Amino acid sequence: MRYSIILLAVLTISLQSCGQSKPTTTSETTKTNKTMDTTGKKTDEEWKKTLTSDQYYVLREKGTERAYTGKLYLTKDKGIYKCAACGNELFTSDMKFDSHCGWPSFDREIKGGKIITQTDTSFGTIRTEIMCAKCGSHLGHIFDDGPTETGKRYCVNSVSLEFIPEDSATKK
Ligand SMILES: [Zn+2]
Repeated sequence: MRYSIILLAVLTISLQSCGQSKPTTTSETTKTNKTMDTTGKKTDEEWKKTLTSDQYYVLREKGTERAYTGKLYLTKDKGIYKCAACGNELFTSDMKFDSHCGWPSFDREIKGGKIITQTDTSFGTIRTEIMCAKCGSHLGHIFDDGPTETGKRYCVNSVSLEFIPEDSATKK
């Protein structure tokens, strides 16, 4: 009788240890860009409240506006181009050039790490996506085929930008 109790105990322990040896799932947090400033971060719900549906689609869902349709595509006025989501100053009118590609194009950005990049492999191509460093919103892509001395072409959605004409800035 005693023997069977010991056997039962051993069996129970071995069953327990068997149960414990099951792999435990550890939830690893996904790696985010180290340089990203989190002050401009909002939840999707908060973005939906502050952005238009077109802005939300491009800025937060990495969409692309149709070529030649953006309101800033042909703008040549003097001024500053800001991130439409958070107001981060990204480009000036001096950096804009006529690329004929259908989207506002710039050959450089305002200095100070205002734009971050990441590899984009969507649509079977390898492109470099550009995003606002402050709020992480999608701006467009950067290419190495620029016609100016920088050799860069920042191809940006109009919807991702807010243009502040120089006149309105100096009058204040
Ligand atoms: Zn931003």
